Amino acid sequence: MGKIIEPLRGVHDVLPEAAPAWQFLERIAREVFASYGYEEFRVPVIEQTQLFQRSIGDFTDIVEKEMFSFIDQGEDHITLRPEATAGIARAMISNGLLREGRLRVWCMGPMFRRERPQAGRYRQFHQIDAEAFGFAGPDIDAEIILLSARLLRRLGLSRIKLLVNSLGTPASRAAYRDQLTAYFGAHEAELDEDSKRRLHGNPLRILDSKNPDMQRIVAGAPLLLETLDAESRQHFDSLCAHLRSAGIAYHVEPRLVRGLDYYTRTVFEWTTDALGSQSTVCAGGRYDGLVGQLGGPSTPGIGWAMGQERIVMLLEKQGWVPSRDRPQVYLVLVGERSEHQGFQLAEQLREAWPDLKLQVNLGGGNFKTQFKRADKSGAQFALVLGDDEMARGVVALKALRQELAQEECPVDRISERLAALLGLKGA
Ligand code: ATP
Ligand code: MG
Repeated sequence: MGKIIEPLRGVHDVLPEAAPAWQFLERIAREVFASYGYEEFRVPVIEQTQLFQRSIGDFTDIVEKEMFSFIDQGEDHITLRPEATAGIARAMISNGLLREGRLRVWCMGPMFRRERPQAGRYRQFHQIDAEAFGFAGPDIDAEIILLSARLLRRLGLSRIKLLVNSLGTPASRAAYRDQLTAYFGAHEAELDEDSKRRLHGNPLRILDSKNPDMQRIVAGAPLLLETLDAESRQHFDSLCAHLRSAGIAYHVEPRLVRGLDYYTRTVFEWTTDALGSQSTVCAGGRYDGLVGQLGGPSTPGIGWAMGQERIVMLLEKQGWVPSRDRPQVYLVLVGERSEHQGFQLAEQLREAWPDLKLQVNLGGGNFKTQFKRADKSGAQFALVLGDDEMARGVVALKALRQELAQEECPVDRISERLAALLGLKGA
């Protein structure tokens, strides 16, 4: 006997019983994107490794230790995408789309990071992304945050909170970086290993440290918001004003920096207190330098990514009740001849009523077995076609979930009868 093959660490199957929550999330996301005029963009799951090195930055968790990278047949250096923004920016440039100037897109799919697996943190996980290119002003920052707020609200999620901050321009950020290097340098002996490494590579990342021992030192660090350049200040104030007039509650969190190097000015996160330490469900920011950094025409950009697993966990936590996609009708077929005619009948019904959900009994079995299967399928009605019914040109119809007398219906009338019973709409 062959040994059972286990899934890889940190990757998960979404079982049919869990699928409704995913479908709900994805359906609402599609509707909300459409309502803001964002179009779907699908990008590859594999890209050249250097795309992520050049965009995300060397001193980030992702590039330092989380990428799944390999050399393909001794030729291409390939990485499984750890996030979508870099690939979308690359695709915008490769396809010359930025010549048209302004684009608002979304994307959804699996991402890969070699992290230590734990609840809410996986090696293959899924994100929903929104990205906008070519808009420099704070109005798009407001719109894209409002979009995320509407999506979370439509999902019925509570216990979430919006944090916002500004990282300034590359210049004000560079000056701030020097301040931080000096501050943390003076506390070098107290820094943990990660922070020591970041001290000269990317001291902003120390602010993002998840080590509780670092909190006291982080709390004393200078704040960028206090020395923000005038234009970034104005941009940030205008965003906050937009959020207030839209009635979106937010908290200014001056230590919010986000893990990726490419952010400028606005950064934000939606966090929850319902999921323990993996508390961020959606995160994003402005990346005005990214497209230029990847060799494209200088183009401002902004986006966010939402972790689908964490959203599904929140839905479950809040008692969201799934409605599984059950068949409405189960077709019971007893006898070899009825199997052929039953397949034909099933196809005719599906042709007539595209919204009908019909499951056909497969693999034979007597009436009792087939009725058990019909019941287990969750169907509301069983349609029965046996030798006796065939001989008389009828099908029997039996309600499985309500008290209704069993009825017989001529084969050529069953389509109309089902449509009336189930409220089918047709093509
Ligand atoms: P963290 O600080 O939690 O590692 P991050 O800064 O790496 O987060 P982003 O790259 O901003 O996260 O990703 C956006 C969202 O994607 C996160 O807020 C989270 O909801 C989700 N996410 C990120 N990494 C994972 C993962 N390994 N497993 C599940 N969801 C994830
Ligand atoms: Mg991370």
